[in-house]
Amino acid sequence: MRVLIVGGGTAGWMTAAALSRLLPPRLVSVRLLESEEIGTVGVGEATVPHIRFFNAKLGLDEADFMARTRATFKLGIEFRNWSRVGDSYIHPFGAFGRELAGVRFHHHWVRARKTGLAGSIEAWSLPIIAARQGRFAHPADDPASPLSTYSYAYQFDAGLYAAFLRTYAEARGVARTEGKVVDVALNGESGFAETVTLESGERIAADLFIDCSGFRGLLIEQTLGAGYEDWTHWLPCDRAYAAPCDSAGTLTPYTRATAREAGWIWRIPLQHRVGNGHVYSSGFCSDDRALSALLEQLESPAHTEPRQLRFRAGKRRRQWSRNVVSIGLAAGFLEPLESTSIHLIQLAIGYLLELFPDPDFDPMNEAEFNRIMALEYERIRDFIILHYHATLRDDTAFWNYCRTMEIPDSLAYRMELFRERGVVAQYREGMFLDASWLAVFLGQNVIPHHYDPSSDRVDPASLATHLAGIGAEYAQAVGSMPQHEEFLREIGADHRTLGAQ
Ligand SMILES: Cc1cc2nc3c(=O)[nH]c(=O)nc-3n(C[C@H](O)[C@H](O)[C@H](O)COP(=O)(O)OP(=O)(O)OC[C@H]3O[C@@H](n4cnc5c(N)ncnc54)[C@H](O)[C@@H]3O)c2cc1C
Repeated sequence: MRVLIVGGGTAGWMTAAALSRLLPPRLVSVRLLESEEIGTVGVGEATVPHIRFFNAKLGLDEADFMARTRATFKLGIEFRNWSRVGDSYIHPFGAFGRELAGVRFHHHWVRARKTGLAGSIEAWSLPIIAARQGRFAHPADDPASPLSTYSYAYQFDAGLYAAFLRTYAEARGVARTEGKVVDVALNGESGFAETVTLESGERIAADLFIDCSGFRGLLIEQTLGAGYEDWTHWLPCDRAYAAPCDSAGTLTPYTRATAREAGWIWRIPLQHRVGNGHVYSSGFCSDDRALSALLEQLESPAHTEPRQLRFRAGKRRRQWSRNVVSIGLAAGFLEPLESTSIHLIQLAIGYLLELFPDPDFDPMNEAEFNRIMALEYERIRDFIILHYHATLRDDTAFWNYCRTMEIPDSLAYRMELFRERGVVAQYREGMFLDASWLAVFLGQNVIPHHYDPSSDRVDPASLATHLAGIGAEYAQAVGSMPQHEEFLREIGADHRTLGAQ
């Protein structure tokens, strides 16, 4: 089967790398087409822990990957000003506490909080304690160790990652063509894509087309008209300014998302620079205001002229249509609040491999891919909406809109269940499991009215001992972890650029 990937951004090269590694080359040939003139989106720096499994499948060495992409480690995301101005909480990549008497930890915490025995839940999350102290170490393998209670991701330069994967994919037989697609020809009977024509006049035929052409969705939308499900009414941010600068402080092992009057500002420390950007809603904030809000809080002058990006939250109605599969920005967009875009690329690649079509293109593959990807997008959508909706802020029109807007039924149900019973509705699989929902619910001040009554089987003294024991254990374990920068140096990060002083 001839596979043509259209687009060489992060999505295109991640797809090319995975297909060249995981499919048999005697059955599948992979070609990637990209246009340097058009370029890539060129932002995207924070990730979620799953990327480690993607890199492992490719057989990448972590230290090499980190050096090439100027990566730092990430234990979670700090959210400032989301519930109330002045508030701060961290969504960590890890669990809270340990269960007791078969009851999940947070129920005991809710009970203890009611009686004044417990304060912020942060004291029972090892990755939060470590993040607040700027420390990092690889998690321990021994499940009995408190250092096994977290995971981690990376903060990296996505452009360098794409370049790294290009070298990787080309070494495994992926052919790259430079050129701009000006036309796509469909089969008159089946409506399947047959060839793309380049500006140079060259025509390239393929059996399977993977549309990684970015927001424009060259094949999936412009040619096949798959349609777009617009979620702007739930996620009204539609623009961003991005402006990297030098780091003026220590390299925090976490990303920061600070809520502003009509959106939020990201701060992502890499080895050689800090990524900054302001995601905002043009309906509630002018471009000038958004830009000055970003520039006035940079820790050092911007490296380049700030770049503006425009987008619309949502996804293609059909992400796979006939013999075209869209991946990356061509498939949809959810703002980077929880660093999920690269993860959605990874998921799409995984499902495509699982449902890889035969030459007869059984419609079951397309149907299942579309079903499961829709589910993944919707879950992440709900999780992101939660951050906006569960707010107490009433200081601007934007926050009043978000606080009072109608939300998807799926999210309303989850919020109600948690608020009443402290129960996080379970997903069998997929993104953002209980611990993540818990962190954001509690961080956003959605505190359960009731806890699991089985907690009352534990007498108050035993509960106090349990809480104090875990708190002390975590604090001690974090004390043994090195500072993040020290750890980066140990694994060979470049001394000259580290912290970019
Ligand atoms: C403001 C912002 C912040 C973000 N932050 C994060 C983050 O922190 N974490 C995260 O995971 N993700 C983030 N993302 C998303 C991330 O940037 C993208 O998911 C990722 O870069 C993938 O982009 P892409 O490859 O789909 O598209 P692009 O980078 O746009 O690449 C498109 C490719 O298609 C090619 N192309 C287009 N048209 C043609 C044509 N006619 N002929 C030939 N080639 C063509 C282009 O040349 C390019 O190679 C962010 C996105 C935005 C907008």
